Amino acid sequence: MIKTDVIIVGAGPTGLFTVFEAGLLKLKCHLIDALPQPGGQCSEIYPKKPIYDIPAFPEILAGKLVDNLMEQIKPFEPGFTLGERAETLDKQEDGSFIVTTNKGTQHHAPVVVIAGGLGSFEPRKPPISNIVDFEDNGVAYMVKDPEVYRDKKVVIAGGGDSALDWAIFLADVASEVSLVHRRNEFRGALDSVEKASELAKLGKIKLFTEAEVKKLYGDDKLEAVVIKHNDAEKGETYLEVDNFIPLFGLSPKLGPIGDWGLEIERNAIKVNNAKDYQTNIPGVFAIGDVNTYEGKLKLILSGFHEAAVMCQYAYQIINPGKRFVMKYTTVGGVTGFDGSKK
Ligand code: FAD
Repeated sequence: MIKTDVIIVGAGPTGLFTVFEAGLLKLKCHLIDALPQPGGQCSEIYPKKPIYDIPAFPEILAGKLVDNLMEQIKPFEPGFTLGERAETLDKQEDGSFIVTTNKGTQHHAPVVVIAGGLGSFEPRKPPISNIVDFEDNGVAYMVKDPEVYRDKKVVIAGGGDSALDWAIFLADVASEVSLVHRRNEFRGALDSVEKASELAKLGKIKLFTEAEVKKLYGDDKLEAVVIKHNDAEKGETYLEVDNFIPLFGLSPKLGPIGDWGLEIERNAIKVNNAKDYQTNIPGVFAIGDVNTYEGKLKLILSGFHEAAVMCQYAYQIINPGKRFVMKYTTVGGVTGFDGSKK
């Protein structure tokens, strides 16, 4: 059981900045995210896109914004449970909460902050009838740790940047990499497409275009896939493999949070924005893109503001009756989160 002051569901920009604001109040945070990396939409959807409306940054790439947030919260040593979806919220008799993930990891805290954005990104799965039988047993929809594939025979399916980038990367890690795409043209960056075809020429990637993985075989774990070619004359290819990684993108869904007894309006969580961004469940807050109230703007800076306000109230729940004198970060030795007084 992971114990902390504040459980944050969602490690997007809002969740990450919450760690900073909570840290100023000496509250410890633990973040849970369904994705294998922090950053939410900024990392998953548009890491290379410039953002122009972050105060004091005339222009910043979304990926760089996430790197900066990670740097800013480092001194507060947040915990992370990544690649796991928060599944259930259970209120305890003492008013605290246990949040359990789809992998069974349990987190216990007096305060829960939902910073779930558009919801958890669910992988788009290919229509192969027995694919669920091999999930975590040879089939994965995202690459959490490339080392898992060292010296393994891997088939990647997809035609976008993720499929290309991982095929290129794993060509040096796995013993065999096959890339299967149902069209002839790839959608990814030109540079990646060229790199992948170069590696194919060198025999480091087996390229199957105009083809789809249609069947999976194995007893306890995946042992082989069948690739069906669009060209009937080519028929099917039977390939012995250890791993199959379909990378067809992720679609956001509010998912299990929708069953936590929260007041939901148009797929977002209603909060008290006149005060503290608390939901209808006392002790559970919702901030960033996941919440709704009159006048809500789904922008990164809205999430940052909501985090700052909400942490003041979380402090009062965690330290009842104790007063915290709000200081600027540059006053009274609060600066220098590495411990130094400036
Ligand atoms: P998100 O970034 O959505 O992060 C939420 C995280 O919660 C996700 O990582 C998700 O996996 C996780 N999560 C959800 N449910 C669960 C669960 N049950 N268990 C575990 N994890 C869960 N905003 C701007 O201010 N300026 C811009 O220029 C701008 N440009 C944009 C361009 C594009 C193409 C897009 C798509 C958005 C843009 N936005 C922009 C909007 C901005 O990205 C969002 O406002 C911001 O990402 C919201 O941050 P968040 O942390 O609230 O949510």
